[in-house]
Amino acid sequence: MSEIVPSPLNAAQQQVLDQLGSTDRPYFEPSLRAQLRHELDQAFEPMLAAITSDDPLFVSKRAIGMVHSCEQLYVADRTEEFSWSVPIIRGMVSHKAVELLVGYRGNPTPLDLVEAAIARLENDMYGPGEFLRGLSEGERAELISMANDRVATFMETFPPLERQWRPVTESKVRAEFGNGLIQLSGKIDLQLGFARGNQAGKVTIDLKTGRSHRTHIDDLRFYALIDTLKTGTPPRLLVSYYLEQGTPHTELVTEELLWSSARRTAEAVGRIVELNTGEITAERTPGGSCTFCPLRDECEPGIVYLQERSQAG
Ligand code: SF4
Repeated sequence: MSEIVPSPLNAAQQQVLDQLGSTDRPYFEPSLRAQLRHELDQAFEPMLAAITSDDPLFVSKRAIGMVHSCEQLYVADRTEEFSWSVPIIRGMVSHKAVELLVGYRGNPTPLDLVEAAIARLENDMYGPGEFLRGLSEGERAELISMANDRVATFMETFPPLERQWRPVTESKVRAEFGNGLIQLSGKIDLQLGFARGNQAGKVTIDLKTGRSHRTHIDDLRFYALIDTLKTGTPPRLLVSYYLEQGTPHTELVTEELLWSSARRTAEAVGRIVELNTGEITAERTPGGSCTFCPLRDECEPGIVYLQERSQAG
């Protein structure tokens, strides 16, 4: 019987492996987790009176990012009724397909994974199932084609996921404060490696379908913070992996990075509580977020910003 010989890595895969597979494994103080929790407990304590157990405050990386970029955008997003769209679904299908790659038997093609991902999402009662089932044949074909492109890029540029790396997809992380009144939560696309005691070893990867953006780094730092609050040992490396370019942007995790994320999180949660209770009026801060803001056709500062940006080329 012929032996299955693993394919050699191409240059792109080797580059990713070199970037992610460093042997540098830093140690972190075992007391770090308790110190971070204490800092956040102290920061959140004055906010708890404004939140009830019937309506706890769930805080995601998205809410934190919006509040820091433009408070009015956060308010608009919170009050706007959510609706599924092809761009949202495209990212979701690509992520799901990569998730399935970890457990799929045999040697699946990108198309196998994309079709399996769509089939699973279509059966989702509370997610995008109804939207997916309602797509026309043409829309569905276009969705498959675009997701297939991204998954194929991932498989071509990312080294094959080895079992001993302990790949975990869609890992949920959560940290609760004030008996659950405030909950920081997130879902990590892909994690590789593991800690040994207080020696970091995990690589946290966020799969991205658009262009690189500063907030992607903050999103990953937020995940590193929650993961540290959960396990006590931070990941060693944060990676935004851009599916269209097939390239990773990496950042080493340090104590300072975690403290900075804790401060940024506490500040955002404070503003969110004040906005939700009507204690403050939302500020409008034009910037990159205006491009996808639901108020972009009626918000004066946003209109001016977008006009000036388009004139500047
Ligand atoms: S258009 Fe821009 S400035 Fe106006 S609310 Fe939206 S993000 Fe803020």
